Amino acid sequence: MARPTTFADASSSYDEADFVVLGVPFDRTTSFRPGARFGPDAIRQHSWNFESFDLETGLDLAEAKVHDLGNTDEFGSAEEMVRGVRDELRPLYRAGKFPIVLGGDHACAPPSVEAYPDGAPSLGILYLDAHLDFRSSYLGDARSHACSSRRIVEKVGARNVVVLGVRSVSREEIDDNRSIGMPFVTAHEIARDGIAASVQRALNMLKTERLYVSLDIDAIDPAYAAATGTPEPFGLTPRDVKYVIDQAAPRLVGLDIMEVSPPYDQGNTSALAARLAREAIARVLQSRRGR
Ligand code: MN
Ligand code: MN
Repeated sequence: MARPTTFADASSSYDEADFVVLGVPFDRTTSFRPGARFGPDAIRQHSWNFESFDLETGLDLAEAKVHDLGNTDEFGSAEEMVRGVRDELRPLYRAGKFPIVLGGDHACAPPSVEAYPDGAPSLGILYLDAHLDFRSSYLGDARSHACSSRRIVEKVGARNVVVLGVRSVSREEIDDNRSIGMPFVTAHEIARDGIAASVQRALNMLKTERLYVSLDIDAIDPAYAAATGTPEPFGLTPRDVKYVIDQAAPRLVGLDIMEVSPPYDQGNTSALAARLAREAIARVLQSRRGR
């Protein structure tokens, strides 16, 4: 594992890149077991594990124009992190680039969405998570990872967010959401109805021209993705999440992958996260070339 800490095949300059990787090594709002600050570099390392040729799309990802900005500085507080990530990503969206943000805990997702420019075509969010993350504040911090979907709703509106894979929620979050109305599809509903019908249901709800996927890796069952801060049984399969990315790709303008915690990893969680990022690159490229 002596490869440099850039994402695989990130050999383009910033100016020529279509996809830009940014690591946010921040896990100060993790509530159970920390370590997600090591996520970005572990995901980068594992990204080199894969063939650059993508079997399904027939694309060689070595030809994808990817730039890796490296990691942000360390931040003292969540507020500081939010400002830093927003500042980093604003010019990137404006330049028409596709951000791939590697966390870090899920607190790093809202600023990745908030940086999306006002006045640009409207943005819908597919928010994959075992948890609803809908607290107005947690342990005194409105920027906690337990509040991330709520902060995103404040940016794009409740009708432009769908949470997929939920199976852990507090009564207060459900009560709060009754009036706010952010739709969610539970992991149990996905198991019952199948991923294809569930994703169709989610995409039917999101009328926006563009989509953004925020992936809390704990959406996936701990059997496949054990290395995360708050593992929760009865989750999605890796293939379910791949399907979400594939279906979203034609409208997709950004992706984050959060909550990978390498201290608990045998390598499979980081490999899965890296592979899903590669999947997004391949499918977005494929749909852009098809236009
Ligand atoms: Mn989360
Ligand atoms: Mn979660």
